[in-house]
Amino acid sequence: MIRRRVTVLGATGSVGCSTLDLMDQAETAGTGAFEVEALTGGANIARLAEQARRWKPRLAVTADPARLDELRAALAGTGVEAAAGDQAVIEAAARPADWIMAAIVGAAGLRSAWAAAATGATLALANKESLVCCGPALIERVKRSGGRLLPVDSEHSAIHQVFPHAAPEQVARLVLTASGGPFRNSPIAALKSITPEQAVAHPNWSMGAKISVDSATMANKGLETIEAAYLFDMPAERIGVVVHPESIVHSLVEYVDGSTLAQMGPPDMKTPIAYALAWPDRLAWNAPRLDLAALGRLTFEAPDDERFPALKLARQALQAGGAAPIVFNAANEVAALAFLDRRLGFLNIAAVVADTLSRVTASGVDSGSDSACDAALAVDAQARRMAESIIRGIAAAA
Ligand code: NAD
Ligand code: MG
Repeated sequence: MIRRRVTVLGATGSVGCSTLDLMDQAETAGTGAFEVEALTGGANIARLAEQARRWKPRLAVTADPARLDELRAALAGTGVEAAAGDQAVIEAAARPADWIMAAIVGAAGLRSAWAAAATGATLALANKESLVCCGPALIERVKRSGGRLLPVDSEHSAIHQVFPHAAPEQVARLVLTASGGPFRNSPIAALKSITPEQAVAHPNWSMGAKISVDSATMANKGLETIEAAYLFDMPAERIGVVVHPESIVHSLVEYVDGSTLAQMGPPDMKTPIAYALAWPDRLAWNAPRLDLAALGRLTFEAPDDERFPALKLARQALQAGGAAPIVFNAANEVAALAFLDRRLGFLNIAAVVADTLSRVTASGVDSGSDSACDAALAVDAQARRMAESIIRGIAAAA
């Protein structure tokens, strides 16, 4: 029986809902028992209130201060304390718990992940952007607190499952698999006029809007390359990417003796979440099962750099080091959201990232420093301003 006192940051999103659904299934099956310390969400008060009524956390927080009254009214009579605003989200993250899921999207999740990293809890990290911005410092902070960092991203969970001991010298190469997103086979000329609706319709995974766009541009695999470099202490040269449209093999570790281990499963985020929730144990839940005979074949191909320039840009940012990964992340986030707002064309997302990377020069953050998070957010803000001004320039020229 897995017992945990849990906090879920970003509970109302795709990963957050999957986390709570998994906990619910495990309780029903009698394989898990969970207490909830805190849940946080954004504008979707109805969903947050429904989750709070089910789990009776000590605290429920909306990041939107204008919605505090709405949240209070929805929780009337439940005994659940309500709070609102960015600071309240950070305070929720700082509360003692056994296990904290960081599933806020984007750099907005950095401060709360940073706070959670100091609690000594197991930090289940879905928010890849915080690792990209603050990786070595965040990892160091978790270590110093006596906590543990477990990746939730399916690729990194896969690598963690087949590479559990930190012995990078035994590993020749990590290979991240990528679905290739919805436009893997579209004619390049057609990519120009892609709409947000087309970009968020992922063939295999059901995810939030921003990561779906990242998946379509393959900026997601770029972020994941940086994430893997920090998590597993690997240089960019030893992290490869292979396109695998079926999303069954979630990543591979090639050892120095020529043996390659892969982790497989149907594409369902609940499996990597369950792995992080139960580690070092395993959680029995109503998981979809892999039927290789029914699948028949699995296919692999090299990524197309011309079609997906964002992947190469991320790799270059990782190799450049310093603040470049933070700039990559910020420019990509601003550009992806501008695309979702119909202020920027699909092909211009990578162009904005490239232009921002060439214009913003900032020094990296000291990984041992308690202010590494502030330093990363200062670079993030600078890169965002530059990316926004580049986007305005593109709109004015059109
Ligand atoms: P989502 O958009 O579905 O949910 C995001 C959550 O963050 C929501 O609860 C929202 O209310 C909250 N949020 C948004 N802005 C906020 C802010 N400014 N302050 C506080 N809270 C805020 O996103 P998602 O798809 O669940 O992704 C969450 C994270 O997990 C991302 O970093 C993503 O890259 C990563 N991830 C997601 C998946 C997936 O399958 N969805 C897979 C791997 C990694
Ligand atoms: Mg992933």
